[in-house]
Amino acid sequence: MVLFHTHILLGIIVFLFTKDFFSGGNQIIFFLMVLLGSILPDIDESKSKINQWSGIIGKIIAFFAQHRGFYHSLLFFVITFMSVSYLWSNYYAWGLLLGYLAHMFGDGITLMGVQIFYPFSKFKIKGPVKVGGMVESVILIFLVILIVKKFL
Ligand SMILES: [Zn+2]
Repeated sequence: MVLFHTHILLGIIVFLFTKDFFSGGNQIIFFLMVLLGSILPDIDESKSKINQWSGIIGKIIAFFAQHRGFYHSLLFFVITFMSVSYLWSNYYAWGLLLGYLAHMFGDGITLMGVQIFYPFSKFKIKGPVKVGGMVESVILIFLVILIVKKFL
C-alpha cells in the first residue's frame, strides 16, 4: 500500500480541484466522503489505518480478501457508488468515487500496481514508484506544495 498520508493528500487535492463541479449537499460531508474514498480500498490490508479503525469488519475483510483485489476494483466502487447514491445521496456518492479515483492514481503509479478490472481481467495499471521510497517522499512534498498553492 502507498503510505496513508500520500493517499490523504491525493484525496485533498482531488477535492480542491473538483469540488466546484459538484453540488447537492453539505460540502464538508462531501469532503469527508472524498477522504473516506481515498483510504477505503486499503481496508483489505490488515496493517492499514482504515483497517484498524474498522475493527472486526476490517479483520474479516483482510482475512478473506486479497490485497489490491476486489476492494481495489472498479466493480467494488460501482457497487458502493450505486448503493450510496440510491440509499443516501448522489452528491456524496460522487465524493466517495472521486476519493477512490485518487486512491487508484496513488496505487497505480507504484511498481505493484492495481488490477482495476478485477476479477474480470488481470490487466494492471502500474508505474515506477517504490512504496515508501525516495520518489514517494518527493511526490509527497510536491502534493503539499500543490495544496498550499491552491490556498495562496
Ligand atoms: Zn491501496
